[in-house]
Amino acid sequence: MEADIDRVLISRQQIAQRVRELAEQITGRYRQCPGGLVIVSILSGAIIFLADLIRQLPLPMKIGLVGVSSYPGCNTTSQGPELLRQLRVDIRNRHVLVVDDILDSGRTLRYVLDELRQAGPASLSVCVLLQKPGKFPPDLAPDFVGFDIDDVFVVGYGLDYDDQYRNYPDIAVLKRELYAAADKAKTAGA
Ligand code: 5GP
Ligand code: MG
Repeated sequence: MEADIDRVLISRQQIAQRVRELAEQITGRYRQCPGGLVIVSILSGAIIFLADLIRQLPLPMKIGLVGVSSYPGCNTTSQGPELLRQLRVDIRNRHVLVVDDILDSGRTLRYVLDELRQAGPASLSVCVLLQKPGKFPPDLAPDFVGFDIDDVFVVGYGLDYDDQYRNYPDIAVLKRELYAAADKAKTAGA
């Protein structure tokens, strides 16, 4: 795995520190909410962020998961969101916090928020670990953000390329030739 990494963008120590800060902000926001909150997270990229974040939130909560795929297989550009798994927690009149890994074009988040709104939550907020400023419409600006990053395709800490590298502990950029091989195969019609 190490041999495939070009550079580390955000170290595991920086992530851990920022997750602590986000947890404090979120706790401050929801502490007074009777009945706590429902956290809705988006599979699969958010799994590690979700696991680290929720263990630092001393609040009553339910966890719901939705499955959305935007970058199937060897894609590094969004192919449009596709719902793979529906939410199985009732969010009517509940305070809902959506937790996702990264906000890029915003198509995935827009799609998920539209679905959730139809279920009548009491409130709907968003927390993302990473965002790429300038790539998504301003009305999608999340309530809680870990880091701004440049417009590069990143892996690690839950984020994948072709379902690999999710277990890499830092957020990193892969060597260019790894994507180049996949892009070439696609151009050739593979
Ligand atoms: P969007 O719909 O905002 O373009 O993309 C949202 C989803 O696509 C993210 O939740 C994430 O799963 C995936 N994604 C977006 N940018 C990246 C990236 O740089 N690296 C990886 N591994 N996934 C990304
Ligand atoms: Mg995602």
